[in-house]
Amino acid sequence: MTSLDDLPLRANLRGQIPYGAPQLHVPVALNVNENTHPIPPAVASDIAAALADAILTVNRYPDREFSQLRDDLAGYLGHGLTRDNIWAANGSNEVLQQVLQAFGGPGRSLLGFAPTYSMYSILASGTDTRWIPGDRDADYELSPETAARWVTESAPDIVFLCSPNNPTGTPLSLETIAAVYDATPGIVVVDEAYAEFSPDGTDSALTLLPGRERLLVSRTMSKAFAFAGVRLGYLAADPAVTDALRLVRLPYHLSALTQAAAVAALAHTGEMLAMVDDIRVQRDRLVTELRALGFSPLRSGSNFVLFGGVADPRATFEALLADGILIRDVGIPGHLRVSAGTEAETTAFLDAIARLAPIAE
Ligand SMILES: *Cc1c(COP(=O)(O)O)cnc(C)c1O
Repeated sequence: MTSLDDLPLRANLRGQIPYGAPQLHVPVALNVNENTHPIPPAVASDIAAALADAILTVNRYPDREFSQLRDDLAGYLGHGLTRDNIWAANGSNEVLQQVLQAFGGPGRSLLGFAPTYSMYSILASGTDTRWIPGDRDADYELSPETAARWVTESAPDIVFLCSPNNPTGTPLSLETIAAVYDATPGIVVVDEAYAEFSPDGTDSALTLLPGRERLLVSRTMSKAFAFAGVRLGYLAADPAVTDALRLVRLPYHLSALTQAAAVAALAHTGEMLAMVDDIRVQRDRLVTELRALGFSPLRSGSNFVLFGGVADPRATFEALLADGILIRDVGIPGHLRVSAGTEAETTAFLDAIARLAPIAE
């Protein structure tokens, strides 16, 4: 049988491992930070009607500029943004890959602050961009000083800041983002995949965009909008940045069906986001109850919680799985990550881990 080693693979891909969160069919899946609430049936039928309409013209290529979708995304984000500020692709993973294709590549480097979203280093190796894993402060926080020092010392071409950060859940202050921007002549991306789950009154990095033409703020419909299966991510930035991304996108990369589904969903933003408050309640409940059980949950501005104090993460993960509950071992010693589910799912997880308490310290 042929193995990878027999193929003339690019040298920087040798020994790499593909993204591979387990996709198991279990009663309670709390492992990839999906929105566990399905979209409301009335909204679903509106989206289906839009898809039925769009399918009638799929003999033609879709609008390459996805103008309507960019208008609607700009309207959703507010902050005075217009379609010229907006870019979108099949998930924010593709948006981030396009950023690396345009601004990274051989001889260039990408700085992130580990532990952070595992796709960053994978996208870096896929585009032959050197990955620099910077460090964080205690409790995975990131101060302006620490972040700026890493930027100054490693002189990256691109910095990815994840806020709130996956897998830790910790938000990043606007001061840290501004300090990173001021410390580099390069591109700074703030990945706000979980922004909608932040506490009320939290300012988005979108407020920093005016006057910062190298700042990019990426978002996704996968999490708060319960749209992970559609694949729609986007970013806001200076119009020159979206022009740069046009140089690397595949022609017609956003299918007519994707565009139609996303436009229809954005017309129901209120209903699509209705579950965000519920999820935040379950997230806060996870923090409170895990702490009461003797674990050490980190503060979280997202729809998941990373908790320490797990004596044997692997054994705990397996024991929960045997109970039909899938969470995530992100490889941080003594820690596991769990997504906030519906009230019933969250209860099932908390009950199960309480029964396992002897495995914890
Ligand atoms: C889930 C997630 C994304 C979203 O990816 P999509 O491709 O839009 O589904 C982006 N960044 C982070 C940090 C995430 O956790």
